[in-house]
Amino acid sequence: MNCIFCRIASGEVPSNILYQDERVVAFPDINPKAPVHLLVVPREHIETVAELTEDSASIIGHIVTVANRLAREAGIAEKGYRLVVNCGLEGGQEVPHLHVHLLGGRQMTGTLG
Ligand code: 5GP
Ligand code: ZN
Repeated sequence: MNCIFCRIASGEVPSNILYQDERVVAFPDINPKAPVHLLVVPREHIETVAELTEDSASIIGHIVTVANRLAREAGIAEKGYRLVVNCGLEGGQEVPHLHVHLLGGRQMTGTLG
């Protein structure tokens, strides 16, 4: 298993785990782009959001509720924050294990590019 997010989720690679349950794990991004930059990932190795189907997409709902909770805990929920999912090469995805970015603590700019 050489997937970095699988290794973090299993505890093989130490990280500052901020939340975990049977389905997901959350930890800080190693190269933060904002004062708050966390990643929420499924324990299951799902490569991209494109793999999700009607039957498996409920994981995204759970990830969003965990991200909302982390945003409240980080004190950025009132002012607002951004959730980002990159998918595939042109989507800018660098780590091929599904993850949602939680970004906040500064004004996000309008561009998504
Ligand atoms: P992507 O471009 O795939 O949506 O984002 C991948 C994110 O994972 C990047 O923001 C990058 O900084 C982060 N990242 C890559 N390797 C590691 C790592 O080993 N540990 C942590 N905590 N974050 C990582
Ligand atoms: Zn993985």
